[in-house]
Amino acid sequence: MNLAHLLVRAARTAGTRPALFLGSTPLSDYPALARRAATLAGSLQRLGLQRGARVGLFMTNHPSVIELLFGCWWAGLAVVPINPKLHPREAHYIVSHSGVSLLFVTGDIGDALANAGLPLPDVREIVDVDRAAYRALLEGSPLAEPVHRASDDLAWLFYTSGTTGHPKGVMLTHRNLLLMTLCYFADVDPVDPRDAILYAAPMSHGAGLYCLPHVAAAARHVVPESRGFDAAEILTLARGLRDVSMFAAPTMVRRLVEHAAKQGEEGEGLKTVVYGGGPMYVEDIQRALEVMGPRFAQIYGQGESPMTITALSRAHLCDTGHPRYLERIGSVGVAQSAVEVRVADADGRNLAPGETGEVIVRGDTVMAGYWRDEAATAGTIRGGWLFTGDVGSLDEDGFLTLRDRSKDVIISGGSNIYPREVEEVLLHHPAVAEVSVVGQRDPEWGEIVIAFVVARDGATVDPQSLDELCREHIARFKRPKQYRIVDALPKNHYGKVLKTELRARLAGEQLSN
Ligand code: AMP
Repeated sequence: MNLAHLLVRAARTAGTRPALFLGSTPLSDYPALARRAATLAGSLQRLGLQRGARVGLFMTNHPSVIELLFGCWWAGLAVVPINPKLHPREAHYIVSHSGVSLLFVTGDIGDALANAGLPLPDVREIVDVDRAAYRALLEGSPLAEPVHRASDDLAWLFYTSGTTGHPKGVMLTHRNLLLMTLCYFADVDPVDPRDAILYAAPMSHGAGLYCLPHVAAAARHVVPESRGFDAAEILTLARGLRDVSMFAAPTMVRRLVEHAAKQGEEGEGLKTVVYGGGPMYVEDIQRALEVMGPRFAQIYGQGESPMTITALSRAHLCDTGHPRYLERIGSVGVAQSAVEVRVADADGRNLAPGETGEVIVRGDTVMAGYWRDEAATAGTIRGGWLFTGDVGSLDEDGFLTLRDRSKDVIISGGSNIYPREVEEVLLHHPAVAEVSVVGQRDPEWGEIVIAFVVARDGATVDPQSLDELCREHIARFKRPKQYRIVDALPKNHYGKVLKTELRARLAGEQLSN
């Protein structure tokens, strides 16, 4: 089924309630949104774009993203949303690699790409969504029905954030995204037509994927005027619009919670903050629940099985009486309905509960493969299972706890050390704001553990007290051999700490010694 049918149905059932907002200003209802998508589809067809052709979106969050996604699908095309925070050279790589034939941009970032002097031979036109050329595409006769697409046809080429090398294009099909949509209702949060989804993270990634369940439910869509994350704006919008949900990375959750706490607010009007994309520390989610109440749910996913591997529901996060409550809220929850999740050893054999190995996933949300990269596909999907590169363990009840990415494991004196475990301990120190633990090559031990530590504003961190804390909580061999107190940690555009950069820094020092 073509995903565009979700919008067709919403337009028939939703009536004239507002569907799309910029800030608190309503822009259109569902019938108008569907008409715009159908008209775009008609224009794209008249431009001669054939089924399966790729259309790029290099845009900061913008109200036109939703009509563009659905307009492209309506015309039988595939979308290539590109992270707006990328450098023009990185965006250029994606546009070229995916063979985009038409590129939609917002001027703030699109102009730099257009003027970078980089060749874009496949791109017929770069259309700025705030200029006349875009308005012209919204005129003319609409395409009455979405073009038929089989469930296995490409819908979205999702370029992974990858902290090294070139990004890879994850091929997501209509089936993948439909199952992701249904899992949102089944495992993350039911959606009511009165609900709203707020786009405070880039719509090219997780936040944008969540427009699908909210179109399916004929709910409201809100693009904040800041076009991004602003804690004060989110709280104000939620108070006014009510029943607002959003996807947020853990760093955003922390900032939102601290802002709310400072203002003496509890997030009135916020329904559900779905967090994921990186580790949420137990202390942080406890603080979030304490300040804002039961407004949270967690998902664990990756581009290769988008937003849909496991979920930790609101009910689990609120089940404080459960004997293993703390372990559970430190986990990423249980398998979502459309997938099987296992933990396997290096040969892909099932491990028993409690044993640590690679997380593998099978099901209808797992990508069709990497775009034009058979070798990488064969390395990642083996025997029908997606090898996630994440390391974790399942408990008897099926709760998955992530230890780390497999490549982040530190092997010291033959023992595996999972950085996250050490980071959790160090974060308990009252003077520590952020921490990242990596391995440094060592002639004696193979690798030794190094902790990069950022102090809280105005606080000083004493390495000795950090060491004492580790001694109290973890095996001696896991203790960092060195603490580096730094002003900030290097992060990628998604706020994920770039451990590769920290490792390179350490390797560079060794070379110059
Ligand atoms: P990406 O494909 O860029 O979305 O990155 C996916 C990766 O982010 C996963 O493979 C995990 O390593 C990490 N990740 C996603 N969700 C979570 C989560 N809830 N907790 C910890 N790590 C996560």
